[in-house]
Amino acid sequence: MDTNKIIRQKIHINGIVQGVGFRPFIYRIANQCHLTGFVNNNSEGVLIEAQGLPQSLKKLNELIEKQAPPLAKINQIKSHEIPPKNETSFRIIKTENTAPASTFIAPDVCVCDDCLEEMNDPQDRRYHYPFINCTNCGPRYTIVESIPYDRPFTSMRVFPMCADCEKEYHNPTDRRFHAQPNACPKCGPQLFLWDGAGKTPGLDDPLAGAVKFLKKGKIVAIRGLGGFHLAVDAFNENAVKELRKRKGRQGKPFALMAPTVESIKKYCHVSQGEAHALKHHTRPIVLLQAKGTVPVLKAIAPGNNFLGFMLPYAPLHFLLMENFDALIMTSANFTDEPIVIKNEEAVERLHEIADYFLVHNREIVQRCDDSIIRVVDNRPRLIRRSRGFVPEPLFLEVTTGKNILAVGAELKNTIALSRADAVFFSPHIGDLDNPAAYNFFEESITHLSGILQISPAVVACDLHPEYLSTKWAKKQGLPVVEIQHHHAHLAAVMAENKISAPTIGLILDGTGFGPDGTIWGGEVLIGDFNGFERFAWLEPVAMPGSSAAIKQPWRMALSYLFSAFGAEAANLDLPLIKNRPVQEMDLIEKMILKNINSPLTSSCGRLFDTVSAILGVCTEVTFEAEAAIQLEMALDKKVTGVYVFDGRSSGIISVKNIIKNIVEDFQNGLNVPTISAKFHNTLAMIFARVAETAREKTGINRVALSGGVYQNIYFFNTLSALLVKNGFDVLTHSQVPANDGGLALGQIAIANAALQA
Ligand code: ZN
Ligand code: ZN
Ligand code: FE
Repeated sequence: MDTNKIIRQKIHINGIVQGVGFRPFIYRIANQCHLTGFVNNNSEGVLIEAQGLPQSLKKLNELIEKQAPPLAKINQIKSHEIPPKNETSFRIIKTENTAPASTFIAPDVCVCDDCLEEMNDPQDRRYHYPFINCTNCGPRYTIVESIPYDRPFTSMRVFPMCADCEKEYHNPTDRRFHAQPNACPKCGPQLFLWDGAGKTPGLDDPLAGAVKFLKKGKIVAIRGLGGFHLAVDAFNENAVKELRKRKGRQGKPFALMAPTVESIKKYCHVSQGEAHALKHHTRPIVLLQAKGTVPVLKAIAPGNNFLGFMLPYAPLHFLLMENFDALIMTSANFTDEPIVIKNEEAVERLHEIADYFLVHNREIVQRCDDSIIRVVDNRPRLIRRSRGFVPEPLFLEVTTGKNILAVGAELKNTIALSRADAVFFSPHIGDLDNPAAYNFFEESITHLSGILQISPAVVACDLHPEYLSTKWAKKQGLPVVEIQHHHAHLAAVMAENKISAPTIGLILDGTGFGPDGTIWGGEVLIGDFNGFERFAWLEPVAMPGSSAAIKQPWRMALSYLFSAFGAEAANLDLPLIKNRPVQEMDLIEKMILKNINSPLTSSCGRLFDTVSAILGVCTEVTFEAEAAIQLEMALDKKVTGVYVFDGRSSGIISVKNIIKNIVEDFQNGLNVPTISAKFHNTLAMIFARVAETAREKTGINRVALSGGVYQNIYFFNTLSALLVKNGFDVLTHSQVPANDGGLALGQIAIANAALQA
């Protein structure tokens, strides 16, 4: 190669490269490499033509990969040589108005260090300005009304920029070049403090006022990035209890915000990986093991050893947290409803909960709850994928020929849309049986397909005929692909790990509709995107009262006891039995025997509920999975014992003997932490053994773990350690939740395979 010969390269970059400061970045590095040419946005991403010495172009390509702006996500770079042109400079070419719309929208991102420095500088014109942002940080998804991603199509359109802001916005070398939410105290959004009647309580500084009221133990609704939080001083026990009472939230833990990782370390153990997750620009809530010394832990997270902490992310949070060591920052909503986003709505709907409202006038177009993460086995695992992540796509190994809409399940609903190899998720929507959540479900589909310009050709849904998402799917006049729930779980974890070859799935879950009309949930499936075989499953037992048995684990416990002991169960010397009226026992027995409103289930979640209820840990739940969570919290990690299991490891897996052994241990006075550990260990051993049987029969050495049960970290760790020890490749979730929040990914993969077939 002639190293002195001038060459010209055409470089196409796709991924999240628009609205994230990519063009000024290219401009800067191209000049640094003494290149001429231009950079431009086009429908596929960014187009560069660069000209200079070969080594300079090589350097440019290196820098693109190494130093891309923090919000950029490069999916693909394609380049080829073209004839040199006669030019003397490198330019940013303005996007033509006629150019097709941007194809990716960046997620909302935590305020960056440069902006924080300015915000804390008394000389800066944005000193203490709670809406400071730049190309590398600030709101994105939550302010976008339509595309292209340009200020007139965001909720910033009502704030004309002042001359200073305008200058920054148009200067390619400024870090606010084309930062659509760019603003300052002179021209941008402002804070207001209201009381419960929507009036200002007569204080000059809204923020200082809110701080004052929080210190007094008041409940303040605070409008943030993706919606309102309800905040109280975390160490004011009365305030915390009052919040719980007013919100109608009994046992579910509250999330916390603390100013720094160091302050969190006072209350929780924070590993390196957890610190990294906390500080990441996505700023999720990270579930952390609490130290025993947290003063009001019982009020914040009753019966739980974990606390959900997040660091401040909006500039407003940083200003607020200068005054507190920890605040409760829980989503502002009524139980199960979507998070509140509008000021008037907040006052109208929340005035019985919040004493004051710290609001602002930058409209939130799309609600986006805080994301929740747990670091397990050194990998971050998303439990709720929402703010900070949405709508950043996940990429499939294959291209979907047609655009697919997947509508998820019923609980923890999220929907997803595919275009080529990209899968875009909605934020966390919630449980669709709640009317407000259902509206949000419909709204999310419209909004997401609008801003991404994806019109689906096919809808993928759950097999459950009664799910509202399924009913919706069937009304669209589009071809529908119905997918068995646990098959979708298997496909989700395979797709996430870019595996399409047949895999053994240990799918352990609460509820899913089975093709045989029973409720599945403790399933070992062998399959791929094209289909599956039900290799093994927990022995089905009755759910007396159907969905009532989910809310009342004592019902499930009775069902398991009747199945293990027969009629003798009614005479067992157990508090669970002794404490229940005889008539109730009779009624439940009758329901089971005569099959009255008692569908059969192989659910693994219900088995956890059962053991929790038998041991008296939790007999009624106030939120989903509470009984299982408390059983996990109770266990003694040092116990390695297991129950004898001599049952089958394919087909129907009976746990009757284990139930009998648990009852015996309990009656003999063995402590609950030990029994809980033995139960967890045994269940892990059972499924590890089934996996081995499946491997012997099929030669498949790959095991996939998915389903809500894997949110039980002790169980997850124990089972995956056994599998790894036995030489399996273990596929697990990291980027999408193992619970139904990740289901839509599997639905897309399966629908796509069905369309190819
Ligand atoms: Zn910034
Ligand atoms: Zn301004
Ligand atoms: Fe599920």
